[in-house]
Amino acid sequence: MSDPGPRDPGQRETTGPRGVRRSVPVTERVVVLDPASGRRAGQTADAEAEPTPPPRPGVPGYLAIDLGASRLAAGIVDQDGEVVLRDRVATPARNVWPVLTQLVGRVLAANPGDVEPQIVGVTCPGPIDRGTGSMKPIGMPMWHGFPIRRELVEITGLDVEMETPGRALALAEMWRGDAAEQPAGSTCFATMVLGDDADGGFVVHGRLVNGLTGNLGQFGHLVVEPEGMPCACGAAGCLTMYASARGIEASTNRELRRTPVAIVERTGIMVARACASVAAMLDVTEIVLGGVVPSVFGDPFFEALDRELDQRSGLGHLERMRVRGVSPGRIGPLVAAAAVARQRHLSEPIDAADATDDATADATDDVPGAEGEDDRSGPGVEAITAR
Ligand SMILES: [Zn+2]
Repeated sequence: MSDPGPRDPGQRETTGPRGVRRSVPVTERVVVLDPASGRRAGQTADAEAEPTPPPRPGVPGYLAIDLGASRLAAGIVDQDGEVVLRDRVATPARNVWPVLTQLVGRVLAANPGDVEPQIVGVTCPGPIDRGTGSMKPIGMPMWHGFPIRRELVEITGLDVEMETPGRALALAEMWRGDAAEQPAGSTCFATMVLGDDADGGFVVHGRLVNGLTGNLGQFGHLVVEPEGMPCACGAAGCLTMYASARGIEASTNRELRRTPVAIVERTGIMVARACASVAAMLDVTEIVLGGVVPSVFGDPFFEALDRELDQRSGLGHLERMRVRGVSPGRIGPLVAAAAVARQRHLSEPIDAADATDDATADATDDVPGAEGEDDRSGPGVEAITAR
């Protein structure tokens, strides 16, 4: 999934299947304080206070939802990418969807109304079935086939857009990251989100590349260790087994923050191998890393990554290759989910049947061999800003 920033102190540790200790967020709600009145936004004023002014119409914004194996989060994000309200709950082992419905209902009920969601953006583990609006994450059969998009349309009455965390990070990076500072249409980069799972995305000249089924970016299944650990996808040695939070915790039997240094460094090495392959394959020199793993592991992880990358990326045209973490505080999981909704605002959606024609005209000029792909676009610490 997309778990992205450092985990909060408001967490408890549980023992999961196979004795793996996992840090599970306790249900938490954050309502941004209204600095003008000193009371919680959304609370009613005291009875003896001044007469209540007529309600102001809210400005348009987004309802952001991040679905992951360990956490469900929802929030309201404004058009500048500031989270104005959020709520979250640990992902239950079963009956996930009623819990999600309750979560979304709480967020909408708690909305003070300054920002009115117009579109819902969802991040969830892929691959995503664009036709049914459901997902089929590897190793999570209980999530298969549930029509998330249809359910959320019914609950909210809004249009719903879905993306995987890595692809959402790509969109968020072009909204609030370094890529936003570059001239529109000139940005080429890849993303990798190392959260509960490993996932990515690929942007060419400012456009997220979709691939045949809209799932380009499943970098978690790049093989980084020949004859390595078996993966649920059927291969062995996949990146997700070595660099996702779930994979690392399963191999160490420890909570992520207590990962031994040797494993932190091994993770950096494995991610470097994946980055070298991605760069060579996609012709990019910039890869943005998001997710809880790089943010928790920090410098020892990035140092091991750089050392390995030096040895593995000797291609002359990629000599300026740079792998960096996402800007902390600017892009978190809910901002990434909001970026998915925002993308719908920016361009009318292209359905699968039209995608080939449309994108061929656009992308093929830029990228030889990209015929048939159309392009459209997680995470660090969530930016919560008082307004
Ligand atoms: Zn795999």
